[in-house]
Amino acid sequence: MNKTVFLDRDGVINKNLDDYVKTIEELEIFPFVSKAIKNLNEMNFKVIVITNQSAINRGIITHQKIREIHQNIQNHLRKNNAFIDAFYYCPHRPNENCFCRKPKSGLLTQAIQEFLVDVDKSWMIGDNESDIIAGKNIGTKTIKISAGYNLEDAVKTIIDCEK
Ligand SMILES: [Mg+2]
Ligand SMILES: [Zn+2]
Repeated sequence: MNKTVFLDRDGVINKNLDDYVKTIEELEIFPFVSKAIKNLNEMNFKVIVITNQSAINRGIITHQKIREIHQNIQNHLRKNNAFIDAFYYCPHRPNENCFCRKPKSGLLTQAIQEFLVDVDKSWMIGDNESDIIAGKNIGTKTIKISAGYNLEDAVKTIIDCEK
């Protein structure tokens, strides 16, 4: 069983844009992210991104482009000796009533099965209430990112809890 930190993407790993991150050029990864994720890697957490990307089914971006953006994040991390174990994304629009768009827990459920996640020892980190609800629904601990509290701070909280 694997303890895991689930991460929202936009607003946690990279800057959130009102009209979606559509290209590599628009992807602005926060400077503290590599170090924070490296800390999680070293504590033997699985690190899994769970992200809503309705821009796909709105026709604004392709699956291929989303995968390129995720590969770009991974390449950036690898250069800094950190890595993400997996990216899961929901492509649906809100009105499609899928099971995977947060606050629903479908992607978390899938990841928990595929990575044999020990939910009791795991965390969901996000900047939106829907991230927190999704984590609580599935039974992880949760941390909300805000203007004065970023991923680096959240990882410090996890480190303190692991002591
Ligand atoms: Mg977000
Ligand atoms: Zn979905």
